[in-house]
Amino acid sequence: MLFSEIDYLDSNLDVLHGFVGVRDGRIDYVGANDPTHSNPALDYGERYNGAGKLLIPGLYNTHAHAPMVLLRGYAENLPLQQWLYEAVFPFEDRIRAAQAYPAMLVAIAEMLRFGVVSFSDMYFFTEERARAVAESGIKANLCNGLMVFDPDVRYEDMPDKESNERFVRSYHNTLDERLKIDLNIHSEYISNPQVVQAVGQQALELGVNTHIHLSETAREHEECKQRRGGLTPAAYFESLGFFKQPCVAAHCVHTEPEDWQILARNGVTVSANPASNMKLASGFAPVPQMLAAGINVTLGTDGVASNNSHNILKDLYLFALLYKGATGDPTVVTAKEALAAATINGARAQGRLDSGSIAVGNRADVAVLDISGPWFSPQTDLLNNLVYAGQGSDVVLTMVDGAVLYRDGIYPTIDVKRAIFETQQATQAILASL
Ligand SMILES: [Zn+2]
Repeated sequence: MLFSEIDYLDSNLDVLHGFVGVRDGRIDYVGANDPTHSNPALDYGERYNGAGKLLIPGLYNTHAHAPMVLLRGYAENLPLQQWLYEAVFPFEDRIRAAQAYPAMLVAIAEMLRFGVVSFSDMYFFTEERARAVAESGIKANLCNGLMVFDPDVRYEDMPDKESNERFVRSYHNTLDERLKIDLNIHSEYISNPQVVQAVGQQALELGVNTHIHLSETAREHEECKQRRGGLTPAAYFESLGFFKQPCVAAHCVHTEPEDWQILARNGVTVSANPASNMKLASGFAPVPQMLAAGINVTLGTDGVASNNSHNILKDLYLFALLYKGATGDPTVVTAKEALAAATINGARAQGRLDSGSIAVGNRADVAVLDISGPWFSPQTDLLNNLVYAGQGSDVVLTMVDGAVLYRDGIYPTIDVKRAIFETQQATQAILASL
C-alpha cells in the first residue's frame, strides 16, 4: 500500500506531509515525493488517498488482561480489596478456556478498532490467547499468570516451571515474531522470594522478558516494606536478581525516588495505567519524575474490569493530562512524550526494535485517523489535536506487518459478531452460576 499525500508523524513524532510506502510488511519509503514517479516499476498495490487523514505509528498497550472482557461492567464502585477478592476472583474461577477464547477475540477487535497494533497481556489460557493472536494478525507479548499464595512453595515443584518453558518453546518469536512470550510474577504480594528468583533465572536462561505488577497500591507498597526488611517492591525484585532480563512493571504508583533509580539502572519499563489507577482509587503514578529519571514509561489500559475499555486513545488523553493535574505543574508530560509512551516506548518494552515509529525499514505497524471532523479543526498542530482532541473512533485503519486488520468498520481476520455473541453467552453463564 502507498499512503499518498497524507499527513504523517515521522520518527521524531513531527507532522510531515507526503508519501509512506509499505511493501512486504515493512515501510520502504517515507518522503515528500511520490516514489513511483522516479521509479515507475515500484509496485505498492493499493494507493491510499490521504486527504483528510493522519497516519500515525501503531499504538502499544503494555498492560492488559484481555479475556477480562468477560467481566466488563460486572463489578463496579467497590473498594479495591472487596472488588478483587469478592467480585473478580470468584468470577475468574469460573472462566473456562472455551470462554476465554472469544473474549480474547473481542478484546483484540476492540484494540484494533482503536489503533493498537500490539499489547502485553497477563492472563491464563495461554493456548487460547495465542490462537486468537495468531488468527487475528495482531502482535502480542503473552505471559501466563503466576500467582503464588504459599510462602514456602518452590518453583521447581510447581507445574508452571514446565508449562512456561513449553510456552516459550512453542510460541516465542513465532508468527514472524508477532507473538512473544514473557514470564510472569503477579506481584510481590502474590509470590514468594524463591519463586521470584527462580522465574528471573528461567527468563535469563530462556532469553525472554518479564511482566509484573509493582507498587500499585499504598497498602501493597508499605506491607512489602514491613515483610521484606524495609525493601520496597522494586528493591525486593532487584535484590532477587529478577531484573536481569527486560521487565515491564505495571502501575508503579507508589514508587519512591530510590525506586526510580532501581528501575532506571535495570532498564525496567513502567506501564502507566491512569484509568485503572483512578477507577480503583490507587493514586497517581509519579510519571514526570520517572520520565526525568530516564525510565522507559509506556501506556497500558489494564483489564476492562478496572477501566472499562481498550480504547487506548482515552488512556492517552488521561496520561497527557493527569500528571499535570496531580503535580500542579502544567509543563510536565508533553503531548509528544505522551504519544512516545504509547508508541515507540511500548515497542521497545516488548523487544520490538523494528517497530513503533514510521521510518524506512521498520515493520508497517500503523494506524490512520480521519481528521476531517470539527474536533480536529483548525489544523495548526496535529500532534496536539491528536493527543488532546483525538478520539479512538477517529481510527479508520489499523495495519500490522503491512496487513490491514481493521478498516472502516470491517475486520478482515475476525468474525466479530460471533465473538461478541459467544462472549455474551459466556458471561451470562458465569453470572448465572455465581
Ligand atoms: Zn493488571
